[in-house]
Amino acid sequence: MKEEDLIAEISHEFFHHIQYEMAGNKSALHGGVFPWWLEEGLAESVSAPFKTEGRIKLHEANLLRLIRENSLLDWKDISNPEQVTPRDFLIGYDQGWSMVDYITNLFGKEKRNQWLELIASGESINSAYEQIFGVSFKQLDKEWRNYLKE
Ligand SMILES: [Zn+2]
Repeated sequence: MKEEDLIAEISHEFFHHIQYEMAGNKSALHGGVFPWWLEEGLAESVSAPFKTEGRIKLHEANLLRLIRENSLLDWKDISNPEQVTPRDFLIGYDQGWSMVDYITNLFGKEKRNQWLELIASGESINSAYEQIFGVSFKQLDKEWRNYLKE
């Protein structure tokens, strides 16, 4: 692994520590409150400034392919890491990353973090979403898919 890739990797893994602490020291694999795609999506999104241009381009190409092939997944299929298939595993990173970026761009980091804190306090992802952003996660998912197609 190249040194610049290693820095992005460390940033990703370090973020998981913060996240697991928020979630009562539990990851999605051990019954934590954050769905798996959100854990990986956040870690990918926050470590993006440390990623190489090549890695960012690969992420964008992966997303474009998923859209073209109409193979974006249902969030419920990438929520429990034990039920994620090897193929969906890779998609989960790119799809989660894209959704976290979308939410962050739309509402800002502060609101996004309030949403995460609410989930960490035991609220469901849907209920927390409605409380902080005033729309349903289902609606957001629809808008995100339309946004990707543009
Ligand atoms: Zn990770």
